[in-house]
Amino acid sequence: MNNSKQLFERAQHTIPGGVNSPVRAFKSVGGTPVFIEKADGPYIFDVDGKRYIDYIGSWGPMLLGHNHPAIRQAVQQAAENGLSFGAPCPAEVDMAELVSQLVPSMEMVRFVSSGTEATMSAIRLARGYTGRDTILKFEGCYHGHADSLLVKAGSGALTLGVPNSPGVPADFAKYTLTAEFNNLPQLEAIFAERGQDIACIIVEPVAGNMNCIPPAPGFLEGLRALCDQYGSVLIFDEVMTGFRVALGGAQAVYGVQPDLTTLGKIIGGGMPVGAFGGKRAIMQHIAPTGPVYQAGTLSGNPLAMAAGLAALNAIRQPGVYEALTEKTSQLIAGIKAAADKHGVPLATTQVGGMFGLFFTKEQAISNFAQATQCNIEAFKQFFHLMLNEGVYLAPSAYEAGFLSLAHSEADLAATIAAADRSFAKLAA
Ligand code: PLP
Repeated sequence: MNNSKQLFERAQHTIPGGVNSPVRAFKSVGGTPVFIEKADGPYIFDVDGKRYIDYIGSWGPMLLGHNHPAIRQAVQQAAENGLSFGAPCPAEVDMAELVSQLVPSMEMVRFVSSGTEATMSAIRLARGYTGRDTILKFEGCYHGHADSLLVKAGSGALTLGVPNSPGVPADFAKYTLTAEFNNLPQLEAIFAERGQDIACIIVEPVAGNMNCIPPAPGFLEGLRALCDQYGSVLIFDEVMTGFRVALGGAQAVYGVQPDLTTLGKIIGGGMPVGAFGGKRAIMQHIAPTGPVYQAGTLSGNPLAMAAGLAALNAIRQPGVYEALTEKTSQLIAGIKAAADKHGVPLATTQVGGMFGLFFTKEQAISNFAQATQCNIEAFKQFFHLMLNEGVYLAPSAYEAGFLSLAHSEADLAATIAAADRSFAKLAA
């Protein structure tokens, strides 16, 4: 029995399912999760000494590749001064100013420790600000695991078939309306009926938790117009897309400004950081300036802020997103050509450094219903074939893939060659 199997057996005695976040368990693809010992650049190394080219990047944060020297050094240096103060520190101010500069719609920013906290707090703020209880989200979008957001959710919830989680009281869930992603007419009808009750729309501007689904032309603009018309707050959940699809996030790519934005993943450079922010007039409703309560023992933690600052300072350099986008396009084109060669139906999507692979004959996938109709069995086989080849894809058909700046031409070529061999076996 290899070391991963042994660890997984041990883990299951004391950790539910052997993991601290469900998708890691490989439940939807079968087999034993690989336990990771270390990570460097585009690679992760398991406890049995096998190296994988990694396209998960810790589920998004590792835009610069793993174990980036500037981030590591910033954290080591900050650690010399103590791990947490529970009082304001200079790095928080630097970080707030930098985030606000890079994402100008975020006039004010509050740091938290995860994406879930960011979305949960943004929702509370939107409710407190508007005095309305109802919120609207889209089917297949995942915004973390707060009660009101675990309704028709994507990501692990969808992978494990529990998009509506037991434990969320029906009395909470009734305040969460859901609509189809990319379906503006449906949304207009909902607003015509309920618009005056709706505190906010929360949306992943590029959906990344039902695989990777970009917004249809006009969709985000339509959300903006509806929120303006009905006095609802527009929240872009950019926990995944922030600093991933462009330096200014999806709002910069599509030219639509939300009222509030949530961030996570990349802004922590691998440390636990989330943030929410937006219009000053709304943000001032948060305690201590306003009555909407929100707090955190480790919020704005000096190590986390140091990591975030180092990460953002590295990725704001000229040419970064051009290189990332080009690498991602190259990878996707190579994988698609390999699938075509072997007659495996595959559709692909890409925005900046995130991508989607859909095992389907459909040309374009634009919503949750289509994403769930893809050939999940083919994906599972492909996942394991690629894992054997030393390529680590997300163990779920409903997750976006992520590239890093550390992936070299050789890594991409090796991945495409592995995909070629895997499709050949899949087609046989
Ligand atoms: N929002 C989006 C779009 C996400 O993709 C995620 C996590 O994947 C979250 C929120 C929750 O973030 P966290 O897992 O840090 O709580």
